[in-house]
Amino acid sequence: MKWIRVNMSDLSIKVEEAPKKYEQMGGRWLTSSVVADEVPATCHPLGPLNKVVIAPGILSGTTAPSSGRISVGTKSPLTGGIKEANAGAKFGQYLKRMGYSAIIIEGQPKDKESRYLLNISKEKLELVDAAEYKFMGLYELSGKLASKYGKDAGIASVGPAAEHLLVGTGIAFNDIENAPARYAGRGGVGAVFASKGLKAIVTEAVTGQAAVLNHELFETGRKKLLAALQEHAVTKPKGALNTYGTAVLVNILNEAGALPTRNFSRGTFDGAKKISGEAMAEAAAKNPKAGMMGHRCHPGCVIGCSVIYPDAQGNSHTSVEYETLWAIGANCEIDDLDAIAQMNSMCNDIGLDTIEFGDAVAVAMEGGLLPFGDAKGAIALLEEVKKGSPLGKIIGSGCGTVGKVFGVRRVPAVKNQGMPAYEPRVIKGIGVTYITTPMGADHTAGYSIAPEILGVGGKPDPHTNEGKVKLSKDFQATTCFIDSTGCCVFTAFAILDIPSGFEGMVEACNAVTGANWTTSEAYEIGLNVLKMEHQYNLSAGFSANDDRPPEFMKLEPVPPHNMVWDMADSELDSMWK
Ligand code: SF4
Repeated sequence: MKWIRVNMSDLSIKVEEAPKKYEQMGGRWLTSSVVADEVPATCHPLGPLNKVVIAPGILSGTTAPSSGRISVGTKSPLTGGIKEANAGAKFGQYLKRMGYSAIIIEGQPKDKESRYLLNISKEKLELVDAAEYKFMGLYELSGKLASKYGKDAGIASVGPAAEHLLVGTGIAFNDIENAPARYAGRGGVGAVFASKGLKAIVTEAVTGQAAVLNHELFETGRKKLLAALQEHAVTKPKGALNTYGTAVLVNILNEAGALPTRNFSRGTFDGAKKISGEAMAEAAAKNPKAGMMGHRCHPGCVIGCSVIYPDAQGNSHTSVEYETLWAIGANCEIDDLDAIAQMNSMCNDIGLDTIEFGDAVAVAMEGGLLPFGDAKGAIALLEEVKKGSPLGKIIGSGCGTVGKVFGVRRVPAVKNQGMPAYEPRVIKGIGVTYITTPMGADHTAGYSIAPEILGVGGKPDPHTNEGKVKLSKDFQATTCFIDSTGCCVFTAFAILDIPSGFEGMVEACNAVTGANWTTSEAYEIGLNVLKMEHQYNLSAGFSANDDRPPEFMKLEPVPPHNMVWDMADSELDSMWK
């Protein structure tokens, strides 16, 4: 296995043979291992000792279905702990096809005003001056880079908000059509990337397939995984995700009384229908030139869960996802789909995580900065973030900072990371995930919504605490493995109900790595990654007190179910025993 090591202090680039212990790793397994081994747990996340590790999954660059995820690992400036965030993009597929398993970016240029672009092609690796792109919005940047490096090139880039070193920022990867809309969004990974003086990384478009050791086994595994994805009602062609996008969840969660609304003070939103997947599908059907359901973030995804939403003016907005519709919509009581789509595109352009932004605005609304439902006011705040004004810096620093500045007690965050789109007082399993994952409140870390709400892989009662620590732990461990393969987390819907799908995923990994893992061993690998991440956080100064919900969730019943968070702390702590 070889990787690229870039030192931004002396602007050197080396291709290194990775130590043998990393040989079979990919994605999150690799990023978290390198961070744990090379980044001092107590270092300043925006200082020279932190590193950014970018790694495609084990299967990325192959023909395995929906396997083009790329992981970004670092020490998070938002949480202070370890972070992995991933996105689906051609970037990682190209990297893997060139034979690189990771890029490790370390150090920091002496001149903080400098900007660089890392260009990776089959012929050369070079750092070039990128001063001309400083503080440029990402739509303009992706157009310029496509003209220079080719329209199919892969791009990872950070927007002006990340260049202001705001901890609510992510790294954008360009999609098939070159929109900078696929985000490794959470935890401030964008600010760490920007702190290295990097504006962008470009990878040459490379066709073909990444190296596979056992082609026969790979084909067996690939076909099993593909069959499961094409059979399951959630992931199949014209299935739920393909037809309505991730926003199919808006109406479902609203009916379950678990769609956090008005800064987590209610579980239902009167305007839910207006911001639903069904509403977007209707708009896309009316304007198929500007809109599209079933969009794919990278070549080879067979699910196609994404949406290009056409607004009333005929503008296209790429990747309008459930989490964004909820964060900027229900959570801020904004029911204007066009305004939410506009803010989604603005966040993509300036490099802001839409979940953290929506949480921050809702807390600011509660603090009296602007009224709930004020879409124009929220858009104006995004302009402030782009400018880097003092108010913009507060908003771009996430809901925890906004809560402190405006004296708001109802701050929906764990480890200082804002909660996503599921009410944990009502859906206990996802609550355990938010509270215990080493990542800070994160739904993808252990998506127990699948069984608790959608009845996939079982149908436990979402309202009870019983069995939820084990449920979350199993999901978190399995997710760590899936995040290491490069497969999209949405493949879990199919493999939970169709075990041959998971067998196929593991067999395909065996075919690439030469390993001989069983599905139980794959689970153990994931569990060990999870424990390693937890241990890193303990070394960084975390304790059991960081695995706790915000206090208001224990005290305030949330209507309509009028439930509080009532799981004992000792039960939460059993996660790590
Ligand atoms: S299912 Fe959606 S998020 Fe996952 S890889 Fe496909 S398009 Fe991307």
